[in-house]
Amino acid sequence: MGVKGTTMTKHETGLITTRVEEVIKWGRKNSLWPLPFGTACCAIEFMGVVSSVFDISRFGAELVRFSPRQSDLMIVAGTINYKMGPVLKRIHEQMADPKWVISMGACACSGGFYDNYATVQGIDQIIPVDVFIPGCPPRPDAVLDAIVKLQAKIDSNPTR
Ligand code: SF4
Repeated sequence: MGVKGTTMTKHETGLITTRVEEVIKWGRKNSLWPLPFGTACCAIEFMGVVSSVFDISRFGAELVRFSPRQSDLMIVAGTINYKMGPVLKRIHEQMADPKWVISMGACACSGGFYDNYATVQGIDQIIPVDVFIPGCPPRPDAVLDAIVKLQAKIDSNPTR
């Protein structure tokens, strides 16, 4: 009998068999370690995401870290200007593989209403982005939705 949503097989003896890469993906998607790269008001909204009201630990992503070496999920929350671009790139490079990026809010995704000479018009011009969250600011539940989408993406990709 297959176990729903996985390639695991449960035998009548109670024994479950699967492949090692499935176990690795299961562990990765359920233990994301977010690194908030917060620069503006979206970062304040992110504080709501990690509050008890929204209970992000349901998705295994509650251990926020401020060192790229201890994180595998960068959440860019806020406006990024061109001077900040190299810093964002450097910190992303310092994260170990595999790593993922969520772009939170209109400013990070597209520059938002800062359509000017100083503002990066989307962080995907600097680093790869896995999930974009629209909104100004996005509500905490939109961030939780992005984490669920990222988990599905990790699940559907071959182990890196
Ligand atoms: S998207 Fe809106 S809330 Fe988020 S950083 Fe930009 S201006 Fe602030």
